[in-house]
Amino acid sequence: MTQAAQSFSGSSLFTVTAPSGAGKSSLLAALIRKDPSLRLSISHTTRPPRPGEQNGREYHFTNIADFRKRLEEGEFLEHAIVHGNYYGTSKLSVLGQLDAGHDTLLEIDWQGARQIRKLFPETISVFILPPSISVLEERLVKRGQDSGDIIKQRILAADEEIRHASEFDYVIINYDFDLALAKLAAIVETARCRITRQAIKNRDLFAQFGIRCFTGL
Ligand code: GDP
Ligand code: ADP
Ligand code: 5GP
Repeated sequence: MTQAAQSFSGSSLFTVTAPSGAGKSSLLAALIRKDPSLRLSISHTTRPPRPGEQNGREYHFTNIADFRKRLEEGEFLEHAIVHGNYYGTSKLSVLGQLDAGHDTLLEIDWQGARQIRKLFPETISVFILPPSISVLEERLVKRGQDSGDIIKQRILAADEEIRHASEFDYVIINYDFDLALAKLAAIVETARCRITRQAIKNRDLFAQFGIRCFTGL
């Protein structure tokens, strides 16, 4: 067990990555509705809010100068430039949620997932694939939140993002939404059954049964 994982009180950290429009935000929102004990990290971004997005709900929206200042002050666990905008994950918020015993989800791009994997090798990483590029484009158009130019840019970027799918622990193809959601929920439940985690969360029961397991604690 790594140093980093020890401080998580047995909580799990998940990263979920996908090309824009593959369905990660809808899947994560549905997963949290099913299991409200999960926490979603709210990233900082310099991207302007889309219609209907609220500061502090989808993102902490900020400007480049403020983002760079936070970056210099070491506020981010990871950060990346995606589609020309800065995105970053708050260190205090994520570590606080994990220490409080909450399984935590990061909805971040492949560059961020790589940084998180390096920091916390026990992170469970999931890549969401669309059934095809044409379905991806259809979903972006149907979502109706981005201009034609932005959609074109995101479709071009999808190729690059998908090239990194092999770096992830799990891949889910989001063809049928409910099926994809069930698979995501199954990954979370599987992580919860890991013996190292069960040993931390059920210390007394393990002691009663005399189960000796190295948890690193
Ligand atoms: P979406 O792809 O349609 O959900 O569009 P967004 O503008 O919400 O996200 C753009 C990209 O930034 C996606 O690849 C996200 O996974 C990524 N992203 C969001 N937040 C973060 C973050 O905190 N860190 C990193 N590295 N990437 C992020
Ligand atoms: P992302 O967060 O990856 O950019 P979204 O969650 O915003 O993607 O999904 C993009 C669009 O596709 C949304 O309008 C969403 O309702 C729709 N969508 C997601 N999954 C499916 C699916 N399995 N079948 C049909 N439409 C879907
Ligand atoms: P959007 O701007 O469409 O919400 O997100 C675009 C991309 O940025 C998505 O792939 C999303 O996962 C990624 N993203 C969002 N927040 C973060 C973050 O905090 N860090 C990283 N690395 N990527 C992020």
